[in-house]
Amino acid sequence: MRKTKIVATVGPACENPSTLAALILAGADVLRINASHTTPARLEEWILLIRKVSGSLRKTVGILVDLQGPRVRTGLLRGGGPLLLKKGKPVWIVPGAGAGNGSVITTPCREFPRMVKKGDLVLLDNGLLQLKVLSVEKGGVRCRVMQGGLLKENKGINLPHAPATLPSLTKKDLTDLGVAVRHPVDYIALSFVRNPEDVLALKRWLRRHREIPVIAKIEKPSAVRQIRPILAEADGIMVARGDLGIEMGAEKIPAVQKGLIEQAHRAEVPVITATEMLETMMEKPRPSRAEVSDVANAVFDGTDAVMLSGETAVGKYPVQSVRTMSGILQEAERHLKKFSAEDPRQPARRTTPSPVHAITGAALKAAESLRAKAIVVFTLSGRTALLVSILKPACPIISMTSSLAVRTRLTLLRGVIPLPMRRSASTDEMIRQANQAILQTGLLKRGDPVVVVSGKQALPGARYMAKIHLLGERLISR
Ligand code: PEP
Repeated sequence: MRKTKIVATVGPACENPSTLAALILAGADVLRINASHTTPARLEEWILLIRKVSGSLRKTVGILVDLQGPRVRTGLLRGGGPLLLKKGKPVWIVPGAGAGNGSVITTPCREFPRMVKKGDLVLLDNGLLQLKVLSVEKGGVRCRVMQGGLLKENKGINLPHAPATLPSLTKKDLTDLGVAVRHPVDYIALSFVRNPEDVLALKRWLRRHREIPVIAKIEKPSAVRQIRPILAEADGIMVARGDLGIEMGAEKIPAVQKGLIEQAHRAEVPVITATEMLETMMEKPRPSRAEVSDVANAVFDGTDAVMLSGETAVGKYPVQSVRTMSGILQEAERHLKKFSAEDPRQPARRTTPSPVHAITGAALKAAESLRAKAIVVFTLSGRTALLVSILKPACPIISMTSSLAVRTRLTLLRGVIPLPMRRSASTDEMIRQANQAILQTGLLKRGDPVVVVSGKQALPGARYMAKIHLLGERLISR
């Protein structure tokens, strides 16, 4: 059973219901809708389609809506471009709707002059072109070309040193959020998080509408610097290596990735490692060896989930990409003990003592010494399942919950298999339901030892309980 989860981005390559079904059957645990490429109406269609297809397959999948955030872009170019930027030459960036030409680049972002100061770097088109700000003037921003080349229309602008002047939620984000809160969405990813206040602003908005867990995308150097306070507010993070690599330098990413995963687990939140994981599969049926190693190393770093972006959204081999990723993950997991960067028990030791930490830690110990086939978690809010998942047991974590919303949310957590149950009136009834549901899945067999655990929110008699149980064993009180 694979433990590391797969987040697959949807798009034209998998919009056909049968391809989407194949993607889910190949192992996509969470489907990501990238709001940068959808209108609000299309976002709604995607949510409904995913729920319809996963429902007909009887598969529990999560939905992650990834907000565009305040992405700054260059504008149009006269004649459609491209514009040649020559190294050492001066160039102006002028806010407005006009078309760029000669030594003028436009940007629809009116606030642009307030976002930069003399000496700042301005990176265009994934950092392929680099400018340095010479002065900020009334008509625009005067720059010098540091790295030249051809600029096309509507290319992304990265400002590694920009202060947090723009609100983190744009008009488009608020419209997309309006759609997300009306539908069964499991996670909202917030782009270009700069500080904990950005996360808090979204959480405050969601509190007023519908509480959906927030994944902070770490793609700015300032977010890496402020990771601790960000982790105190976020429900998870994404190592968004695309923009992070542009703004920090790609050579910094491997170490930053390891650091972010470790810090997230100390803060007891899950991590998604993202971007260009199987990029070659956009065009070819096989990944490069470097990509295979990248995916495996993310597992050794302890990531909870890995993400496919263009590979499943617009690539030629969407289903094959998920299948390939699943195979790499399973193989890496077989060697996890040898190469793991982190002692899985460390986070538990680091946390403040509390009953739920004590009982989940005890369940892990019991499962290890018994070589249990699973840890069965009864969870109402999903928190106990999360705490067990962060401990990275060698066995699967079967999470029983009566809430469909919690079940779909649990799809992101490493090692967690969510199963449904009815609310129970007694501990024995809970265990009886788990027995039946687990045996029905065929994942385990009668007589297999499991450790049963429940946390604070279980029914009063089962609060903070850990129990060793043999699957199918008769319960005394019956
Ligand atoms: C990234 O930059 O790595 C990323 C995941 O963000 P997006 O795909 O939304 O640009």
